[in-house]
Amino acid sequence: MRDPHTAQPWIAPGATLGVLGGGQLGRMFIHAAQRAGYGVVVLEPEAHAPAAQVTTQHVRSAYDDRDGLHSIARNAAAVTIEFENVPAQALEWLDAHLPLAPHAGAVAVCQDRAAEKALFTRVGVKCAAHAVIASHDAAADPAHAALLPGILKTARMGYDGKGQVGIEHPGDLPAAWSALGGVPCVLEQRLDLRSEISVILARGRDGASVHLPPQCNVHRSGILFASFAGEGAVDPDVATRAVAAAHVIAEGLAYVGVLCVEFFVLGDGSLVANEMAPRPHNSGHHTIDSCDVSQFDLQVRTLVGAPLVTPRLHSAAVMLNLLGDLWFDARGAQREPAWDAVLALPGAHLHLYGKREPRRARKMGHLTFTAAVGSQARAAALRACDLLGLAPFEAPPWTHDAGD
Ligand code: ADP
Ligand code: MG
Repeated sequence: MRDPHTAQPWIAPGATLGVLGGGQLGRMFIHAAQRAGYGVVVLEPEAHAPAAQVTTQHVRSAYDDRDGLHSIARNAAAVTIEFENVPAQALEWLDAHLPLAPHAGAVAVCQDRAAEKALFTRVGVKCAAHAVIASHDAAADPAHAALLPGILKTARMGYDGKGQVGIEHPGDLPAAWSALGGVPCVLEQRLDLRSEISVILARGRDGASVHLPPQCNVHRSGILFASFAGEGAVDPDVATRAVAAAHVIAEGLAYVGVLCVEFFVLGDGSLVANEMAPRPHNSGHHTIDSCDVSQFDLQVRTLVGAPLVTPRLHSAAVMLNLLGDLWFDARGAQREPAWDAVLALPGAHLHLYGKREPRRARKMGHLTFTAAVGSQARAAALRACDLLGLAPFEAPPWTHDAGD
């Protein structure tokens, strides 16, 4: 058995790294790892998953399959994850047998909204007023009226707004809780948001950490629609406080790897931690094109024990998510979006994940626009919205460029 607390030696290029999960985050991790000279073995049940398409070693099994895990442990020098809902036992087993970043205990916290909020509270980072609802009696407790209007969220497995329902009246809670499957949930107060931002940081086994500049995120129907980075995207004072809070959270978890913390910014500029992801995050995809070290480069560095350097954002950026809806015309017939027109726009970087089947609300790719200043990136992104048939976005609430 391996002692997870002993210092890990540097894993030199040429070694093979493991990743659990075969989605787009795994695909972009593999791109970064391969560029740095590493091989990657992917554990993923789907034959044509985005990450499986770009690697030479694919272990096709369930994430908690014993043979699959043994195969990863035999072939990889260290393992990371690309999504957090890997069964806890699988992560604990890997943690005991080879370097795993992030470690199983940190992922367990990020898998559960109630545990996340308990951590935020323990380390002194404010989160929304909330209550844990894990029984019919708790759902019927009239004291919850104080949290309404609110949002009832399943504690586990929620993403892209799934597993959430708005609650206006206390009497609606028991039925809403049952409709969500009667699973443990968190009821949180609905806050009046000025904006949403996220901080992505990387922390090494030695506790050294660096962060990327925070980005401003705009959601539509509970799904990230656009992220804005660069001067003017986030109020500098808000950014400083968010970065400090994210580092406190990472310390509190003895975190190793890339961590994203989502924050709400309230009308008075105060910050409320929303949730976190123990991996690179959709809101950081622009860093591939806008930074000298991307969030995926940081994931590789933390995994192999390479030095962490503070990334420099060299371009302002706007990232647009490309959902499967774009692959259907007004009559519902399938078509390929007009990429040639989009690629004629300045600073366009098109990333498609190789998913064969477009579905509505499915993340098929993203499009990043980089420019010297934010207003130029926004102008190009707005043109792209027009070309793709997406409703235009408003500039983030705290937007000004040096050049505006
Ligand atoms: P997911 O795991 O689906 O990303 P989140 O908890 O981040 O779940 O919620 C998705 C989005 O819903 C948030 O980014 C935000 O726009 C909105 N939202 C969630 N919780 C609240 C809240 N308490 N008050 C206001 N808006 C919220
Ligand atoms: Mg979220």
